[in-house]
Amino acid sequence: MLEKTLVILKPCTLQRGLVGEITRRFERKGLRLAGMKMMHLMDELLSEHYAHLSAKPFFQRVKDSMMAAPVIVCCYEGVDAVQTVRTLTGPTNGRLAAPGTIRGDYSMSFQENIVHASDSPETAAIELKRFFKPEELFEYRQIAFDFLYANDEY
Ligand code: ADP
Repeated sequence: MLEKTLVILKPCTLQRGLVGEITRRFERKGLRLAGMKMMHLMDELLSEHYAHLSAKPFFQRVKDSMMAAPVIVCCYEGVDAVQTVRTLTGPTNGRLAAPGTIRGDYSMSFQENIVHASDSPETAAIELKRFFKPEELFEYRQIAFDFLYANDEY
């Protein structure tokens, strides 16, 4: 099924000059870029976004790292996009992530792990609403669409 998912290029990605390399990975996979903007995240929004980590000792540290520089928030669309993007991203700890994944190729850290990616379609819907206004997401047909998928795949 066609799905939209949220990707955040974290402050470490901007500071390390990796924005082009990371967005290139999603582009060449065939995901459709439906929205993209730069923003500086605030503590309140991050407390909501990382609510599942609020009891962890590193909660504030993770939020601080997400406020250390601007981020780029992206919405990508594709068939099963949520799981596909998570697979491209790799597990949380960059040191354990397999080579070939984004975190495996670019991260040496549990925290400074290059991207955030929604973990389920339900979470993606909530997170996209949190970071994008409806008019900031664009519907357009990818010209390569018929060559990215068989016609019974979406
Ligand atoms: P993911 O981003 O892989 O979905 P989580 O939702 O569990 O992982 O955690 C959100 C973010 O918090 C991670 O991407 C990472 O930056 C940070 N984080 C999670 N667990 C740890 C940890 N044990 N030590 C340091 N940072 C962590």
